[in-house]
Amino acid sequence: MTAALHVCRHCDDPITDPDDAVEVAYEHGNSGPGWSIWAHRAHAHLVEPDPVPLLILARLAAFKATHRDV
Ligand SMILES: [Zn+2]
Repeated sequence: MTAALHVCRHCDDPITDPDDAVEVAYEHGNSGPGWSIWAHRAHAHLVEPDPVPLLILARLAAFKATHRDV
């Protein structure tokens, strides 16, 4: 049995040493289970949350603030 190969969220390189893999986050799936986000031990503190959902929510809030009759 082989361990699953993880990819670092920060540098996108495969994490070849299982002892070097750090689980930094968990993303929920739209249908079914989600998945873990991994990073190299040296890169774990550099992984930022996914900014895309925050940008979408910010655009919606700005649109609603300027279009009150919609
Ligand atoms: Zn890395």
